[in-house]
Amino acid sequence: MSGALQGKIALVTGGTRGIGRAVVEALAAAGASVDFTYLSSAQAAGEVEAAIAAAGGTAAGHQADAASSAASLTVVEAVLKQHGRVDILVNNAGITRDNLLMRMSEDDWDRVMANNLKSVFNFTKAVCRPMMGQRSGKIINITSIVGLTGNAGQANYAASKAGIIGFTKSVAKELASRNIQVNAVAPGYVETDMTRKLTPEQTKALTDLIPLKRTARTAEIAAVVRFLASSDAEYITGQVIRVDGGMSM
Ligand code: NAD
Repeated sequence: MSGALQGKIALVTGGTRGIGRAVVEALAAAGASVDFTYLSSAQAAGEVEAAIAAAGGTAAGHQADAASSAASLTVVEAVLKQHGRVDILVNNAGITRDNLLMRMSEDDWDRVMANNLKSVFNFTKAVCRPMMGQRSGKIINITSIVGLTGNAGQANYAASKAGIIGFTKSVAKELASRNIQVNAVAPGYVETDMTRKLTPEQTKALTDLIPLKRTARTAEIAAVVRFLASSDAEYITGQVIRVDGGMSM
């Protein structure tokens, strides 16, 4: 495959479905060799590898819990052993455990923080040394507009996504002198397994709030990630790019 990311080595967390899978596909289609992590389904990972290979690209899955710093380090070490470098990191893995604060358990809070925010720390820390050595790198963190606006019933999720935004800006400042760009993409409402948990009434109420009057396709989020990963985005860092059909303007 040839494209804007020809020869680049990319790593995507949570790459077997939803937005993560669309990101793996988009980066591979642009020519990158893509390593991705998955939490549990080796079969789903194998399907992604096969689909990318059938399309003429390269992708390899690694089982790893992104909330584990040891597992994150092991994956990055494997990528470095295989390719000798890592050019692009996309921190995509995330979960929801929604509830009103009064009913939210400590476990709901801790799990969302570990899976959504600590995972970003884990992988970013693991790649930053090799990227600093290379004097180049692109780190793209998937946050949410909920991290900007807040959302009733999602105090844990919104806090984790707002945390990603603060982390993105801080690390962008730390790594700018080494030519490493760090940005966040904030999707609005994307149809994936995560949002399929909503009732038809909730989905309609949300869609009514979107000026473009439709939900996003996963490929529309992936396209912005691909742009931020490319040399066209060399002068963009520390930004939060909303991809939400105008929902949060
Ligand atoms: P999804 O549930 O379809 O996919 C999430 C992926 O992350 C899954 O593959 C899951 O296995 C993986 N994952 C979760 N925790 C993990 C962990 N600890 N280690 C490894 N993998 C893990 O959801 P999605 O909608 O594709 O969400 C992807 C990202 O986009 C998430 O960060 C989510 O918060 C964000 N997002 C989604 C929407 C939306 O409307 N769907 C909106 C804004 C932001």
